[in-house]
Amino acid sequence: MNHPVAVIGAGPFGLSTAAHLRARGVPVRVFGEPMVSWRDHMPEGMILKSTPAASSIDAPQAGHTLLDYCDAAGIPRLVTDEDIIPIETFIAYGEWFQQKLVPELERVRVVSVDRKGGRGASSASSASSASSASSASSASSASSASGGSGGFEGFELKLDSGELFTARAVVVATGLSGFAHLPPELAGAAADGPTPTGPVSHSSQNHDLTRFSGKELIVVGAGQSALETAALAAEAGAQVRVVSRGKGAVAFGAAPWQQPKLRPESPFGRAWSLWALSYYPQPYRYLPAQARHYLVRRVLGPLGAWWLRDRFEGKVTVREIDRIVGAGAPEGSPVLSVRTHGGRVEELSADHVIAATGYRVDLAAMDFLGHELRTELAVSRGTPKLGAGYRSSVPGLYFTGLPAAASYGPVMRFVCGTEFASPRLAKHLVAAHR
Ligand SMILES: Cc1cc2nc3c(=O)[nH]c(=O)nc-3n(C[C@H](O)[C@H](O)[C@H](O)COP(=O)(O)OP(=O)(O)OC[C@H]3O[C@@H](n4cnc5c(N)ncnc54)[C@H](O)[C@@H]3O)c2cc1C
Repeated sequence: MNHPVAVIGAGPFGLSTAAHLRARGVPVRVFGEPMVSWRDHMPEGMILKSTPAASSIDAPQAGHTLLDYCDAAGIPRLVTDEDIIPIETFIAYGEWFQQKLVPELERVRVVSVDRKGGRGASSASSASSASSASSASSASSASSASGGSGGFEGFELKLDSGELFTARAVVVATGLSGFAHLPPELAGAAADGPTPTGPVSHSSQNHDLTRFSGKELIVVGAGQSALETAALAAEAGAQVRVVSRGKGAVAFGAAPWQQPKLRPESPFGRAWSLWALSYYPQPYRYLPAQARHYLVRRVLGPLGAWWLRDRFEGKVTVREIDRIVGAGAPEGSPVLSVRTHGGRVEELSADHVIAATGYRVDLAAMDFLGHELRTELAVSRGTPKLGAGYRSSVPGLYFTGLPAAASYGPVMRFVCGTEFASPRLAKHLVAAHR
């Protein structure tokens, strides 16, 4: 089939996958805003939690690591676990990687993806510019190679520029987009969903925390995002309270020099579990569903970075509670009803609440995937079930990054997951859809 492969997403996973496909001589079209999650949906002044060794975007050829970028940009080399990575440095690294290895990136959105000529094809398919007549024989072999049904003709994509085109395969690398999670108990104060201008926002909506200067702020959560958001807002002059469930939930990791030496090293610290999950994600998808989903949530879960402790303690108040039972905004400002560990219900008020409550993968939120494709995909708790090479149950449709975490483990939530994912996905796709 002569049609290109479409890679949807220009964050670390999309760029890395595209670079691997290009290196194998596959024509690709790559869509998205480079590094936009980092530029617009994380706080200004953020520092990466991952170490330099765990923060390179995987490339098919040498010379494209974070360290190579530092050398090329003439900035101090980030090498040891004690070197911290400012977010601007990482964004600039991603953009440098894109310019070098994915120069043809198209900064447009994909509006829809449907199966071409198949059950999910949209009525617009006849308007497609590229002919697929020559593709039938290779398509059917591709289909059988990837375990699907016959009659595979690729996919039809619509871009927000209005263009329609046919892709032989599609890689979904849309990362965190659309998955921001607001717990239902906060919904009472966010009737129209979280918004920075309303009583409750999600942490992904707060790039500039200086706007909270002089304000009372509640941050819900106990993960790195919650704790760093709280520290940055306090440094910007806000009065900040972190509200976290459970006892002792707010905690910080050990500094590199305090890590236990007798356990194997991994990009996330020294521990056998982290080592296995980082370097051997292959068997992960054979674990029982319950274990897979649990590990994705809990491994490398809520824990502040070692370097954040001094900026947090004494500057941010922590309120430990049993749980939040409800929320409202009677006079425009948020009020949380919380159940204390003693069993009483109390009210906590502030000028604004930031829910640093993470992300939940849900295929329903990937509305650019045609309805029929979504219905056809085999899923497990809202996440696509992936086989070898990151293929989904729909031949030619691949997922990488966060949506692949339920199949390949928590390492897929982090940039270093590109090292395992990208070469394998590219290899499978080339073999199945040449
Ligand atoms: C606060 C915070 C801190 C983090 N810190 C770290 C860290 O220190 N280290 C680490 O390894 N990870 C960290 N992460 C996780 C990090 O976000 C992911 O590892 C990484 O960004 C995932 O990359 P990605 O390419 O999958 O997606 P993203 O970086 O989210 O990129 C998504 C891409 O998809 C594109 N896109 C979406 N929809 C469409 C569409 N319809 N059409 C076209 N393009 C589309 C966007 O334009 C964008 O280019 C952090 C996450 C958060 C929220």
